[in-house]
Amino acid sequence: MRRVLIRKKWMVVTLAMCILFLGACGKKADTTSTHQESKVVKKSELPKNVKSNDWNLVLVNSDHKLKQELDFKQVTDGSIVINTKIESALNEFVAAASKAGYKASLVSGYRSISYQKEVYADSIQSYENSEKSVSEAEKLTKEYVAAPGSSEHHTGLAVDIMSSNWYAQHGDLDNSSEKDKGQKWLMDHAVDYGFILRFPKNKEKSTKIDYETWHFRYVGKDNAKYIVKHNLSLEEYITLLNKEGKK
Ligand SMILES: [Zn+2]
Repeated sequence: MRRVLIRKKWMVVTLAMCILFLGACGKKADTTSTHQESKVVKKSELPKNVKSNDWNLVLVNSDHKLKQELDFKQVTDGSIVINTKIESALNEFVAAASKAGYKASLVSGYRSISYQKEVYADSIQSYENSEKSVSEAEKLTKEYVAAPGSSEHHTGLAVDIMSSNWYAQHGDLDNSSEKDKGQKWLMDHAVDYGFILRFPKNKEKSTKIDYETWHFRYVGKDNAKYIVKHNLSLEEYITLLNKEGKK
């Protein structure tokens, strides 16, 4: 009996850890609150030759789920896996942060759909083991764990990056890291290396994901510059490109 209880307790702890590291990235936003819409968008400044179906603009979210694994060349960068095409940009970004005095930790990169399926199923199981009903277990899982196929991490173009200093002290992905100078540097300079903060403040209605200070997405320098300058989400940028016939 005791052994069973200990095992149960261990499973709950394991689940909590999983949710912290994987589920926290992609927490569904409460979209009932008001948000700021971008008002001025200058179409004349759109990057030349950009197309909404370019490889670096692939859109994966709860409305655009992948049905099967994407096929791309992968490379291991430190402890994470990414799309080979973003390796040099990511290394430059992290090296520049270090040069500015802020070491950065690559916390999470590519995750396959099948892996996400396991995380999702494990989460439901663990909630059930901790006395939640089946429907409660599913509801909680949906809230904290990205549904398989809907995570941008499937693309290998998204990386969770934390200021090492902050991460060493707190050990989790949390928005309070915005107060950390190193995290702020990463958020402010990502654009120079072709990355955007994918889930910014005040864009929850568009992204349907809560503000995340750590989730960076590669889109290329020209796209990143335009997106940041005009305060757009990736969803809004792609909608704009399609409207302009750039697809
Ligand atoms: Zn992430």
